[in-house]
Amino acid sequence: MSSAGTAWQTAELQALDRSHYLHPFTDFKALGEKGTRVITRAEGVHLWDSDGVRLLDAMSGLWCVNIGYGRKELAEAAYRQMLELPYYNSFFQTAHPPAIELAGLLAEVTPAHLNRVFYTGSGSEANDTVVRMVRRYWDLQGQPDKTVIISRHNAYHGSTMAGASLGGMAPMHAQGGLPIPDIEHIDQPYWFREGGDLSPEAFGLKVAGELESRIQALGVDRVAAFIAEPIQGAGGVIVPPDSYWPEISRICDRHGILLVADEVICGFGRTGKWFGSDYYGIKPDLMPIAKGLSSGYLPIGGVMVSDRVADCLVDAGGEFFHGYTYSGHPASCAVALANIRILQNEGIIEQVDTDTGPYLQARWRELGDHPLVGEARGVGFLGAVELVESKNPVTFFSESGRVGGLCRDHCFANGLVMRAVGDTMIIAPPLVMTRSDIDELVEKARLCLDLTAKELGML
Ligand SMILES: *Cc1c(COP(=O)(O)O)cnc(C)c1O
Repeated sequence: MSSAGTAWQTAELQALDRSHYLHPFTDFKALGEKGTRVITRAEGVHLWDSDGVRLLDAMSGLWCVNIGYGRKELAEAAYRQMLELPYYNSFFQTAHPPAIELAGLLAEVTPAHLNRVFYTGSGSEANDTVVRMVRRYWDLQGQPDKTVIISRHNAYHGSTMAGASLGGMAPMHAQGGLPIPDIEHIDQPYWFREGGDLSPEAFGLKVAGELESRIQALGVDRVAAFIAEPIQGAGGVIVPPDSYWPEISRICDRHGILLVADEVICGFGRTGKWFGSDYYGIKPDLMPIAKGLSSGYLPIGGVMVSDRVADCLVDAGGEFFHGYTYSGHPASCAVALANIRILQNEGIIEQVDTDTGPYLQARWRELGDHPLVGEARGVGFLGAVELVESKNPVTFFSESGRVGGLCRDHCFANGLVMRAVGDTMIIAPPLVMTRSDIDELVEKARLCLDLTAKELGML
């Protein structure tokens, strides 16, 4: 089906979907009863469904379509590469031009001390690689007992066994017998929900301090690394207080443990800088990347490896028994190259930094005056509004997720894709949104907040 279909086609696709397609992170039964929404095409910052309905995509697909939809350069890069060399591996002392060129370009755009990449097929695989590489590093350092990786509750690091273990999503752990051994979790810097009477700054220091106490409790000879997203994405766009990252960096330095910044969402311009690490001045030893790396046009991920870690892995010699069939897939690398060149040549990240990002943040914060909104926050092209039962004092809805779900449904019905995490509405729009797209986004969001409030009898 090339573009908008008919109601009949939609029903037929929904029936096939119901019979044969198990969707990710989905209640299969509930979806079967309702019927899937079929998205058929996209252009710029808009999607169309199979009934021809147009939606403004405030989530960039799944945090990934940074340069927007419909860029022919990426399609052409994939097409040319597939004709030239559709596949070859890098296992047996071989490589191909797109993987090599992309490695060089990544060294250029990432922070100065990150000069090597290990390719993966996704963000989850990148975090599996992190676990393997961190443990390999300490083994080569003659400290094989340093195996524990400390992460945070409500973190998201993917859905493989290692990714879900590093993540701090309790429902995921409960369904998988997770986490795997030697993964620990400390509290997240979620001031609005968990800050109590503390100021944001004091709360940031307190939760960062938990890293130090956990290191001391476990013994520094056991702790390998700390992993965190610069800004938590899937957890609900949780922006840490300014005191948080400097203190985390200090603690990692002081105890010599590796710092892993999971940049799968924050990378490639989301904050208005190339990486969240640039935004916060973090110096990670390892940096998982994916999503915006190819703007989602083809699957690809990787781990950027600092000189500290890479020099050790290289100098020690001996094989690292790890890799994926699709590590450095040529078509994915060609698409990522084209994507990064567009980000560079069109000044898209600078535009988010100096113009559209500040504009989005200013307009987004206007939603803070809505009776349903307890807090409106964000950085760059990331935003969240917390829906609350009452604002003063802040009272949360008792059954978490119900009101968020109502609001999300109003958004879909009114041509806006905004996601709900519990009762937090979140956005991560394509970085190419213009000021007028942003106006449309904020006006639609306000309308949907009104409709939700009316449904609850609050307006
Ligand atoms: C999406 C995400 C992942 C997982 O990436 P996949 O490509 O879905 O495997 C890992 N880390 C973060 C921070 C993410 O947002």
